[in-house]
Amino acid sequence: MPDTANPDASLAAALSAIVGPEHVLTDPALMEQYVVDWSRRWRGDALLVVRPGSTDDVAAVLRECSRRGVPVVPQGGNTGLVGGAVPASEADRLPVVLSTRRLDALGEVDHLSGQVTVGAGATLRDVQHHAESAGWHYGVDLAARDSATIGGTVATNAGGIHVVAFGMTRLQIVGIEAVLADGTVLSHLAGMLKDNTGYDLGSLLCGSEGTLGVITAVRLRLHRPVGRTSVALIGAESYAEAIDLMSSAVEPSVRLIAAEVTDETGMELAGRLRGLGWPLERRHPLVVLLEVADGGDASGFTGLSDDADVVVGLDTSEQARLWSYREGQGEAFSALGVAHKLDVSVPLPSLAACADELRDIVGAWPTVEHFGVFGHLADGNIHVEMIGPDADDLAVDLAVLECVARYGGSVSAEHGVGRAKAGELHLCRTPEEITAMRAIKAAWDPVGLMNPGVLFA
Ligand SMILES: Cc1cc2nc3c(=O)[nH]c(=O)nc-3n(C[C@H](O)[C@H](O)[C@H](O)COP(=O)(O)OP(=O)(O)OC[C@H]3O[C@@H](n4cnc5c(N)ncnc54)[C@H](O)[C@@H]3O)c2cc1C
Repeated sequence: MPDTANPDASLAAALSAIVGPEHVLTDPALMEQYVVDWSRRWRGDALLVVRPGSTDDVAAVLRECSRRGVPVVPQGGNTGLVGGAVPASEADRLPVVLSTRRLDALGEVDHLSGQVTVGAGATLRDVQHHAESAGWHYGVDLAARDSATIGGTVATNAGGIHVVAFGMTRLQIVGIEAVLADGTVLSHLAGMLKDNTGYDLGSLLCGSEGTLGVITAVRLRLHRPVGRTSVALIGAESYAEAIDLMSSAVEPSVRLIAAEVTDETGMELAGRLRGLGWPLERRHPLVVLLEVADGGDASGFTGLSDDADVVVGLDTSEQARLWSYREGQGEAFSALGVAHKLDVSVPLPSLAACADELRDIVGAWPTVEHFGVFGHLADGNIHVEMIGPDADDLAVDLAVLECVARYGGSVSAEHGVGRAKAGELHLCRTPEEITAMRAIKAAWDPVGLMNPGVLFA
């Protein structure tokens, strides 16, 4: 029975008996990295951090927490940017942070089906390398690849830089294993591409942001490698021109692997951060990055006009240099202070008008000192970074999200809703949809112990 005189010590003892005392952290100094997020904008308190090493451990930990009514915050690499992986700053009941990082097993690649089963705590980078070393390719990539985990990318349905070629994380999932709040294990990892036997629970867990259960393993679909690619940076004067470039520069017969856009401020900041100069001959308000699979020459970009300001990278080190401006955006803005980071999407035909209006709104906002509007061009996905407003001053965030809603867009393209946008879910989902989501949450987690405050305000 729980020690009612000192419930926290009693919980620590019970969890230590499951995972070993070295994997239960109660020292605030050791817990710090688990209660503050990557952006330093989100922080809270936790009873303790527990690091289970197996699915059975996760089930036993959740049973114990459930028995005592203790909330649980699942955490992978803690690179999510919407406050979903760290405890709330104010909570009625302090939660336990459950770190999945020890669940990092990499199964053997199945060459027949082109699939692999990996632990939820394996990093995206490790899974990419694992696939590559077996001659395959994992379709998801993003700048936080060294820390972000497969479980985190599934829980947020992460997008990233190759969505135009391979789709979001949801499209990579063939099976999933997860543990519900009461310790029930759901396991469906056989890896059948054709399997129409009722609800797709893996798809439901994908994007659930830790509110339905803890994902412990994932069966992933792999792709045949793309082969050599070419990367181009091209100057653009407007978002309308940037979108036009995406379709006109690349012949329909050439496979587009990535299409990104960075604004002049962001190019400058990332260049300074990485010790790189301006990469093109002339200055432009926007720089478009296109990557195509074309066997490694510049012929993939035949549709460019004669006066286009363009640089093409053919070898991997030059390509990495061209990519580093776009990849460095998050880090470059965070180096200036605690950034407000918004991630939104609109239908592609509305992207140019929406991006222009967002620049006007944010540029005129009195407390905004620096800002960037950039993103995954092909996906209609805009990131807005703002430095200046206090961390808890959300007025400009709301103005951005309301603008996106006017264009029929989404308040979260790929980072998830988290705590940051729970109050704004209604801007892009109907009351009926939210009621249906709440009903699922209530069925899987009736007491509301999984990541309270995330997704639903
Ligand atoms: C520099 C940088 C660049 C980024 N670029 C992109 C990008 O291009 N595209 C993109 O989509 N995202 C991007 N992100 C955001 C982030 O990397 C992704 O959201 C990623 O999927 C989070 O993975 P994680 O392991 O760090 O998850 P965490 O941050 O630990 O958790 C994120 C959410 O998932 C839940 N969760 C984590 N693991 C589990 C699990 N095993 N079971 C259940 N719930 C779980 C958490 O509770 C939380 O709600 C970027 C972040 C940074 C810092």
